[in-house]
Amino acid sequence: MDNNASTPAVTQAIAQGDPVPTKGDALRQLAASGGGDGSIFTQLLNNPFFTAGFGLAGVGAAVRYGSVGLRRAATLVRQRMLVDLEITRHDKSYPWVLNWMTAHYRDQLAPSGQQTQLGAFESLVRRFTPGLHHLQITTDAVKTPSGSEQVAFHLVPGHGRHILRYKNAFIAVNRERVGKSFDANGQPFETVKLTTLYYYRHIFQDLFQEAHQMAQRSTEGKTVIYTSRNMGWDISGQPKRRRPFDSVVLEEGLSSRILGDVREFLDARTWYLDRGIPYRRGYLLYGPPGTGKTSFVQALAGALDFNIAMLSLSQHGLNDDLLNALLLNVPPRTIVLLEDADAAFTNRRQRESDGYSGANVTYSGLLNALDGVASAEERIIFMTTNHIDRLDDALIRPGRVDMTLHLGNATEWQIAQLWDRFYAEQDSQGEGKRRFLERVRKAGLVGNVSTAALQGVFLYNKDDVQGAIEMVGQLGHSFAGQ
Ligand code: ADP
Repeated sequence: MDNNASTPAVTQAIAQGDPVPTKGDALRQLAASGGGDGSIFTQLLNNPFFTAGFGLAGVGAAVRYGSVGLRRAATLVRQRMLVDLEITRHDKSYPWVLNWMTAHYRDQLAPSGQQTQLGAFESLVRRFTPGLHHLQITTDAVKTPSGSEQVAFHLVPGHGRHILRYKNAFIAVNRERVGKSFDANGQPFETVKLTTLYYYRHIFQDLFQEAHQMAQRSTEGKTVIYTSRNMGWDISGQPKRRRPFDSVVLEEGLSSRILGDVREFLDARTWYLDRGIPYRRGYLLYGPPGTGKTSFVQALAGALDFNIAMLSLSQHGLNDDLLNALLLNVPPRTIVLLEDADAAFTNRRQRESDGYSGANVTYSGLLNALDGVASAEERIIFMTTNHIDRLDDALIRPGRVDMTLHLGNATEWQIAQLWDRFYAEQDSQGEGKRRFLERVRKAGLVGNVSTAALQGVFLYNKDDVQGAIEMVGQLGHSFAGQ
């Protein structure tokens, strides 16, 4: 009963069937009454610790809900308004896009270019984004046949985020490595992700077209040289300007005979396929060093608009399996140039005599690799050697080597041709050529001096007919018998 007496309002409400007032109602009542002086509520409100705590909790909750909301909104915006495009390193377009980005950004930074017309927004974005300030260098070192090394550098956008502007749209670029693994070529897995507003999604197509055209322009009129890197073919350095076909002077009629044969082979695709014969043709060029074997293949590739995949059989680390894998995976429209073909046979002799079995190409490995070359696409293989006597008959057999061609030291005809290539202007009457040939004949150099040595003399005496004639004696001493 004491209890009832102390809560008359509750008892009354029950009696009248009203809902029982709760603690919240009591607080509301307190608040509604203006929180009379000295009430608990007013005291609480006036308590700075209470209000600060309450405020902080409120702010915390607001921030929490706010940030969740923001995140959701950002995701929604991303999903609805942005479009991503991802390119993996293994896609053909990967290097094109990187090169396009570098070139595009370089254009944007050109002092007289668009830079001056940039809007305030772009300047702001530039200021707070890394742009393409983070570049990466890739270096290609190519060993030329003469033994010298040519080095080419390319700058490409480094890993990380970049912002580009292209046709009124901003493109966020993120180049990143994926995982820590490497592919068979020792290249890390990585991707480039391009993000732009959904509204501008069509620009991706334009971008790729431009990147592709740019890549094509860079190889137009040029010969791409592939060399073996790790387990595959890799472009070696910048594509070279095509070597003019008649810049390599072989014995009279030989160049055109080879060119004619290759053309005939290229035209006979269906003939080969219809008869189930592997569509390949092998050529062996042999002769002393400096007679134009390597240069001729380069000139031929230029004339046919082919590229070259170059490999020396004496190259360190090349073994049968690798040779086989390489010959099975030749890039399209590419002539294979296997230099020092005799190395495989020398290795065999060395194996037989001293039991050496290091990592190099064996004789049977070379034959197997050549026999295994089967492709619906044409396979043109040129082999070169300075030592035909070291080769085995088994190699020079149709299907492996279909044409064996000797490239010898310079004949009179070749000397005259080379002379004209260098001195046609200065010696239009041919008087200098006559004197030069006379001296060469007297010195017994016809057929005893390489075309490379002759070219050396002509290069040294550029535009100097008399100088070249006077150097014949020296040619005899220092170059004869090369
Ligand atoms: P090889 O492969 O027979 O050893 P290269 O093709 O490497 O000879 O020639 C070496 C250099 O000599 C090259 O710079 C090349 O231009 C020049 N050369 C050699 N032979 C000829 C030739 N027949 N016609 C024009 N240049 C030649």
